[in-house]
Amino acid sequence: MLRLEDLRGLGPKRIKALRDAGVDGAAAVPERLPKSYAYALEPTPIASLKPGEHCVEATVEGSPSLSYYAGRSLARASLQDGTGAVSAHWFNQPWMARNLKHGQKVLLYGKAQAYRGRLVLINPRLLQKKGVQPLYQSLPGLPGKVFSSLVSQVLEATRPEAMETLPAALRDRFGLAGRHEALRMAHFPLGRDEVARAQRRIAFENLLLFQTAVRQAAPGGQAGIRMDREGDGASGFWEALPFAPTGAQRRTLDAILADMASGLAMRRLVQGDVGSGKTAVALGAAAFAAGNGYQSALMAPTELLARQHALTAERLLAPLGISVGLLTGSLPASRRREALEGIRSGEWQLVVGTHALLGKSVRFSKLGLAITDEQHRFGVRQRRTLAELARGELAPHVLALSATPIPRSLALVLYGDLQVSVMDESPPGRKAVKTRIVPESKREELYRYLRERALLGEQSFLVCPLVEEDEEGEAKSAKAMYAQLAEGPLKGVGLALTYGTQPAAEREEALDAFYSGRAMVLVSTTVIEVGMDVPNATTMVVEDADRFGLAQLHQLRGRVGRGEKESWCFLLGEENERLETLVQTSDGFVIAQKDLELRGPGEFLGTRQHGRMLDAYGIGDTRLLEETGRCLEELQLGALGTDAYLEVLRQAEARFGQPGNARLD
Ligand code: ADP
Ligand code: MG
Repeated sequence: MLRLEDLRGLGPKRIKALRDAGVDGAAAVPERLPKSYAYALEPTPIASLKPGEHCVEATVEGSPSLSYYAGRSLARASLQDGTGAVSAHWFNQPWMARNLKHGQKVLLYGKAQAYRGRLVLINPRLLQKKGVQPLYQSLPGLPGKVFSSLVSQVLEATRPEAMETLPAALRDRFGLAGRHEALRMAHFPLGRDEVARAQRRIAFENLLLFQTAVRQAAPGGQAGIRMDREGDGASGFWEALPFAPTGAQRRTLDAILADMASGLAMRRLVQGDVGSGKTAVALGAAAFAAGNGYQSALMAPTELLARQHALTAERLLAPLGISVGLLTGSLPASRRREALEGIRSGEWQLVVGTHALLGKSVRFSKLGLAITDEQHRFGVRQRRTLAELARGELAPHVLALSATPIPRSLALVLYGDLQVSVMDESPPGRKAVKTRIVPESKREELYRYLRERALLGEQSFLVCPLVEEDEEGEAKSAKAMYAQLAEGPLKGVGLALTYGTQPAAEREEALDAFYSGRAMVLVSTTVIEVGMDVPNATTMVVEDADRFGLAQLHQLRGRVGRGEKESWCFLLGEENERLETLVQTSDGFVIAQKDLELRGPGEFLGTRQHGRMLDAYGIGDTRLLEETGRCLEELQLGALGTDAYLEVLRQAEARFGQPGNARLD
């Protein structure tokens, strides 16, 4: 086995950078695929630049300048190539201003974009030579050139058969490159067609193995706990709620209760747009389980959402005499002990929590129902594991909730044989959130608007793409934004800040300030995407909206428009077809379909795990899903030989774990 230490050009610092990026052995080096490619084949004459990606060969005119605005640096250089002149802008790459000299010849690759009425190259890459060049997520202290050399060392030292994962019969049948060749083409492509062949092979493999694992994990038709519908849980539950259920809520809960009473283990996915009221339905199911003497677990992807669910559940279920508890990773030791005891003794009838629910020391007394909220944010393993928490003979019922309306082709891949309920109705009185795209030039006006709303007692969300500035420096960071607003445009308006990696106590304080109305504007990253429910919030502002997926923007927009008042969503960015979709429609399914078409499945789902499994960088093609689905069928039918199927099963297990031993912790 080749180790990282065996590769030339790697010191301890670089090895650490690799390990931090998840590359834990030499074999994993070529698996770290390029983020994208620069197709620097033919330079475009400056005079004929249009908006879009270009390669430009030019001379630097004069000395580049460097300025600072809102905590970001901006390096600018003028370029000319005999046909015309254009400027290049680099955000947060101050070294560009230092490195470029008057008269220097440069080869640049990047996006030409309108800026104050002129075309400008935004954050172009400096290239050494023409050709197709892989672009990698940068690693601290490890230049792209060194990384490329590592890849070729590993590929040279590895026999193709040793890294193959798909049987030859299958590769022939579906026209797939060998794995070794695919990785070579991915890292050292000779042309566009090689990139395409590499992507097809890798995407195909990821999708096929993932689909296989899902199918294995969720065979369906298993015997389950038969719950008793005597005295019917549902009508009593709805009567106890402060609102009348929508038709869709009633229908969905009925279907769930029928499943739970059927004698087979339920596997049902509830898909309903943001705000359609899925939580109440899930709580109805938990109430039914409690009435039958069983515990329920409700797992949410973020601590924020788990806490909120615990509060809601407490409010709605306590009057029915059902006890609710919370278990998250950040509980202090004493509360954690209490929680584990409440779960073990069965005193807690509904346990709400995060991943912490999957911890080794969590023992349920009698788990009958496992609910996951925002299902698509979890991986296959976690989904399976929650159901396995039960120690009884029979599998607990599984209920999954998702607000991302997943198009059918993708749902089949992700969920295998789940039953699906669609909640296509909003609670009455909801008004569509009005949406506008706001260009940079109107920023000050937008801040004035937030200020006015705050004076009227209405709250706003302001979402930024990342916590810290990212390597390309384009994304505005929540922290920098917060600091800047507090000093300048929103001075005197109560502000709060939250983000994913924030220490728990700070976060609690920030959210509390916002929930209670002490803070009028909440600056955050996308941690608020799922579940945040503040009816008094009427404005959603999204910075750099183009960086988000449409489905994600739709989710974010769903955070407002929950009260009586008119609500607005402002997307900062340039007008384009993608963002225009959100202005035009508030139908989550239409938006999701568009998003899937534009970005491909992995990006669409927007999670790292799915990203890795489904995305295979850059494949934007749902047809591939159908093809891998067909491939799996052929394998199961034995059309490609028994050995081929066994091999694929083995590979799927190796990658995604074996059903039954899939504890994450
Ligand atoms: P989601 O489907 O996005 O998870 P929630 O369950 O969070 O939606 O519900 C959104 C809001 O709508 C909550 O404040 C909830 O109390 C409220 N709600 C749910 N069902 C109804 C209903 N039938 N009538 C009125 N309000 C409702
Ligand atoms: Mg929800």
